[in-house]
Amino acid sequence: MELNEKNFISELTRVFGLNGLSSYLDKERCEKFYRLTVRMLEENEKYNLTAIKEPEQIILNHYADCVMMAKKLTRGASVIDIGCGAGFPTLPLAIVRDDLRILAVDSTAKRINYVKESAELLGLSNVSVRVMRAEEGGRDGELRERFDYATARAVAQMRILCELCLPFVRVGGELVAMKGKSAEYELKDARRAIATLGGGEVKIESVVLTDGASEELTHPLISVKKKQKTPSAYPRAFAQISKKPL
Ligand code: SAM
Repeated sequence: MELNEKNFISELTRVFGLNGLSSYLDKERCEKFYRLTVRMLEENEKYNLTAIKEPEQIILNHYADCVMMAKKLTRGASVIDIGCGAGFPTLPLAIVRDDLRILAVDSTAKRINYVKESAELLGLSNVSVRVMRAEEGGRDGELRERFDYATARAVAQMRILCELCLPFVRVGGELVAMKGKSAEYELKDARRAIATLGGGEVKIESVVLTDGASEELTHPLISVKKKQKTPSAYPRAFAQISKKPL
């Protein structure tokens, strides 16, 4: 597809429609997704943001995929997005849900700069950013157990991800993780980590996205409710988390 605003918005509208996401689009949001795409492709060389470069695939694999998560988040919620990379799910969520307050976190300053500049360019005042390692931030009293949700896409295996994310979630809040085909297996493996870190009820929801032709994307969403506070021993240093996962 030649990238121009008319083509892009027509494809975005079509793919969101096919996947039950039409209610998240209006004229202004479509324009924001277009401007984000132009910027991401322009800046890709400098920041190494995405291996997906075709606009059609960006719409399905990045935008529709991340917007699926919007259904899980309650109105006005505070969200910490761990390992946001090039701003996923942060930026699509912020475009379609201006009621959310999202803190985008990544350990890489370059990517966080890109996300900050993109949010400013698109006028997304509901996004703030922080360069930080999650396991360090989880010990910071100003961030620990302060968020309604922690989100993460493609950051770590579930049992590691739980230690990186659950410390940020308030009791009663949730970790929402976007996972791949190994979700069930990863979840089984993470049961002990979830219980140790104060997690409770777990739900796994199958999400299958389509472009109406050849592409199908399976991205189960795992949500873990926070039942009680995370013990103060967690999160540990990353060397321990990865060497001896819970
Ligand atoms: N969530 C984005 C997406 O779905 O496109 C980025 C995924 S990328 C594969 C993983 C990101 O997680 C990288 O940008 C990396 O810097 C970040 N990351 C990994 N471990 C981290 C940690 N312990 N704390 C903060 N960021 C981390």
